[in-house]
Amino acid sequence: MPLYLKRKSVKKLLKKVLVANRGEIAVRIIRACREMGIRTVAVYSEADKNALHTTLADEAICVGPAISRKSYLNMKAILEAACLTGADSIHPGFGFLSENAKFAKICEEVGIKLIGPTANLIEMLGNKSQAKHTMKLAGVPVVPGSEGVLTSKEEATQLAEQMKYPVMLKASAGGGGKGIRVVHSKNELEKAYDLVKQEAKLSFNDDSIYLEKVIQNPRHVEIQILADEFGNCIHLGERDCTIQRHNQKIIEETPSLVIDERVREKMGQVAVKVAKEIGYTNAGTIEFLVDNDKNFYFMEMNTRIQVEHPITEMVTGIDLVKEQIKIASGERLEYKQKDIQMIGHSIEARINAETPEKNFRPCPGTITGLHLPGGNGIRIDTAIYSGYTVPPTYDAMIAKIIAHGRTRQEAIAKLKSAVAELVVEGIDTNVEFILDILNDASFVTNEYDTSFIEKRRKP
Ligand code: ADP
Ligand code: ADP
Ligand code: MG
Repeated sequence: MPLYLKRKSVKKLLKKVLVANRGEIAVRIIRACREMGIRTVAVYSEADKNALHTTLADEAICVGPAISRKSYLNMKAILEAACLTGADSIHPGFGFLSENAKFAKICEEVGIKLIGPTANLIEMLGNKSQAKHTMKLAGVPVVPGSEGVLTSKEEATQLAEQMKYPVMLKASAGGGGKGIRVVHSKNELEKAYDLVKQEAKLSFNDDSIYLEKVIQNPRHVEIQILADEFGNCIHLGERDCTIQRHNQKIIEETPSLVIDERVREKMGQVAVKVAKEIGYTNAGTIEFLVDNDKNFYFMEMNTRIQVEHPITEMVTGIDLVKEQIKIASGERLEYKQKDIQMIGHSIEARINAETPEKNFRPCPGTITGLHLPGGNGIRIDTAIYSGYTVPPTYDAMIAKIIAHGRTRQEAIAKLKSAVAELVVEGIDTNVEFILDILNDASFVTNEYDTSFIEKRRKP
């Protein structure tokens, strides 16, 4: 019997959570804790002294200067803050330390509960080429490609010739759409090989790369799962994240219009089966690419809460962050698969502080005036306020606007209305760009793939 089945239910809610993140996700986590009667500790950098997460938490500790490496990625300072404040747990959010196996391991060693899966699981799944191998062994269809990481340029060219161009070179430790390049010929591959390796080293401090066949005209469809520490696991349906710029999601929705009930069920079953097989715990997302013939291929697994989690919450009524905390507290899942029902349609738009006309260059600065929309079926996850200064140091995402309607058409109408009503003065945002997408005929009729944005930017 696996060990986790023998372990007794602890049934003691965590008492104090340190939130090792910033921005809207830190605020999202602090609010969930408050609702549950759990105390919170914020950590902040010198640039975030006046940030909303710093103000909202019960306690706040400065962990270093603006630069992430010295603050939000500073494991020692964050662990010291946890010890100093008596936090029994840490919620890592997304980005930063959320998929850092070393950090998870140290937390385990010092007896602080990291809200997420174990260090071993993060390690196993965080290495994307290794994760594919694990999934393949578990019988999950994976995107065809190299067995493990590439060891030489010659190996890459040989494999690409066998698989036929175009192929993709991808950083094994990659994330956030970085370290990915499509190549169409031997010539391109030879140049890209070194470039992607360099990029991977620079962004992820790990230059291992792998090769994948390019799936033509794909849709990105991912499955949300929840697994407790007693071997119970359910899925909460899918999210379609096909609208992307530079492999980074911009608009996400659920349900996906490209999969029918049969495929949905199959994807969900595969996700749950593999999660159980590897002994996965807490919230996780299994990302797939779906081709023209509705075949789906595993791409990667994210072992954390995702940016787009609210759309799943809107259609299922389940609070994923609270579920994460309950699971980490040693509680059993209170839902069975049959209890999960998706009602209506939900779409999220990521609002970024950036200038689309200047090649989406980030646009930090002080927000001199702000009006946030509201209304029936609108949710806004943000950490900005009037007078707040968006620092230049971090991710450009400043808000997520999420709409929920009975139908896709209604959800789009609500989202359009809300985005159009948003006023952020003092800095540039991608609001007009988002509205253009929501008004685009092929978006509305659901005839698009992951190249949607690239294609429509051409005259
Ligand atoms: P999701 O899969 O939840 O949509 P994203 O890929 O958008 O997540 O990443 C979530 C956030 O974390 C973004 O702000 C992104 O820039 C950042 N991020 C994700 N992975 C990494 C990474 N490996 N290194 C640095 N930042 C990352
Ligand atoms: P990240 O870790 O940065 O999220 P992913 O492996 O999830 O990287 O890929 C990000 C995006 O890149 C996908 O959503 C998809 O649009 C595109 N992509 C990745 N691999 C492939 C592939 N083999 N064929 C086509 N598109 C791909
Ligand atoms: Mg991904």
